[in-house]
Amino acid sequence: MCMCVSIEDYMRCKNYCNKMIHKLNEDIANCESTEIHIFLTNKRNYLQSLKTNYEKKINEMCVHEFEDDLVDIVPDRSIRIRYCKICEYTLH
Ligand SMILES: [Zn+2]
Repeated sequence: MCMCVSIEDYMRCKNYCNKMIHKLNEDIANCESTEIHIFLTNKRNYLQSLKTNYEKKINEMCVHEFEDDLVDIVPDRSIRIRYCKICEYTLH
């Protein structure tokens, strides 16, 4: 594990995991070799579990400041969500 001490550190790690997971998912979709597919999937799953840990930690540390927002799901339909301004934790 890393040496995170602040919410900002954890947020940075979480965002990094997010980016890597996104990239790995693309690689997995384009991958034709079974061995590489398994390798990439394991790596993706590992990052996913790291990300979950970071989210848990952030959630524990953050004194949430919730704000309401409208999010477009399709152009003419939006849903109201409540999310934390600091850590982006979202309530549905
Ligand atoms: Zn928060």
